[in-house]
Amino acid sequence: MLGPNLTAAPRRKTRQIMVGTVAVGGDAPISVQSMTTTKTADVEGTLQQIYALAGAGADIVRCTCNREEAAAGLARIVPRSPVPIIADIHNNHLMALAALDAGVHGLRLNPGNITNPAKIKEVATAARERGVSIRIGVNAGSLDATLYRKYGGATPEAMVESAQIELAYLQEVGFEDVKISVKASYVPLMIEAYRMLADATDHPLHVGVTEAGPGVPGLIKGTAGIGTLLAEGIGDTIRYSLTADPVEEARAGRQLLESLGLRARKNVDLIACPSCGRAEIDVIAVATAAMDAFGEREIPLQVAVMGCVVNGPGEARDADLGIAAGRHKGHLFIKGQNVAVVAEDAMVDALVEYAEAIMRDGAEAVLARADTDRARRAADEDRAALLDEQGSDANASEAKVELIHRKLHPGQA
Ligand code: SF4
Repeated sequence: MLGPNLTAAPRRKTRQIMVGTVAVGGDAPISVQSMTTTKTADVEGTLQQIYALAGAGADIVRCTCNREEAAAGLARIVPRSPVPIIADIHNNHLMALAALDAGVHGLRLNPGNITNPAKIKEVATAARERGVSIRIGVNAGSLDATLYRKYGGATPEAMVESAQIELAYLQEVGFEDVKISVKASYVPLMIEAYRMLADATDHPLHVGVTEAGPGVPGLIKGTAGIGTLLAEGIGDTIRYSLTADPVEEARAGRQLLESLGLRARKNVDLIACPSCGRAEIDVIAVATAAMDAFGEREIPLQVAVMGCVVNGPGEARDADLGIAAGRHKGHLFIKGQNVAVVAEDAMVDALVEYAEAIMRDGAEAVLARADTDRARRAADEDRAALLDEQGSDANASEAKVELIHRKLHPGQA
């Protein structure tokens, strides 16, 4: 279930447009986008990636349409795609017209690339006739040269003006099904540009940090930019631009929305203790194995992997399901109540099995048929034995404090 929205400001009011069957803006759920990295002419390879992206949380997928073969690919991909397809258009407006003929659900136009107003209006007229929406995708790195000179660089003002000029061209032919993005790779610049744009228009906004790069730095940049704006109520559809498998983009987008309470959880939310001197297992290895085992399964539960039975069940009592290690065993618990004991090497399989049972029968039914008394006794025994072995200070903190004290005050007892 979607919890109370405690993190985000009220959502900015926008008009609503459609990208195929997916509504964007207004009161529609904030959607996740990603982009294929295959050649669009490779129909089977591209469809395979689109299915993977949809499985990882993408609601809309964009494919490049840079040449005739790509447009021909789109004609074959769109009817078989599980999600709406947007064509990314580069410098040639004829490719936009070809993508419309291919049946795409949306176009992305970069005002810095196609600058001839007559060609822009020709595309908008054809899109209007087909009920296809357009994203005006301003990018700091490819800002229109005239605006770049006028503002002395890619400033927030220049990016917003670029979007407004393009929007005016579309409106001249009665086209309003527009969403807008003003992306930059420098996070403070994109945040300021989006804030200005949000004040200047009621069109829905596609939010992203462009060229965020690989790995953790890319994820952090994307999250800093997109998350900040979402928390301010700005943003109707989002895309992470990572130098990675695009499945990672879709997953990150979905997780960000779920983390902010803006979309209901779709997959397992795996939590794990940070591990400490009490840990009875390699928590990182078991948690990673559990993440792999759950994969993209649609199990919207919070599942905990805890390093010890001494504190684990209590620390994770709010999780829907969890397992805590103790003396070569795994103690399974549901909402803090012990339900079963399994061998240490069966911990991950047991988690998956119980998660599936909860999804199928409900937590109450699983609890009702479990021998909770026996499971609790086993957990109590292992907890007591561990406390006996390790004492109440398994991290040896008190001994270290004592050592520090003795070294600093050699004369004192
Ligand atoms: Fe994990 Fe147990 Fe240490 Fe808590 S006390 S961090 S559950 S190993």
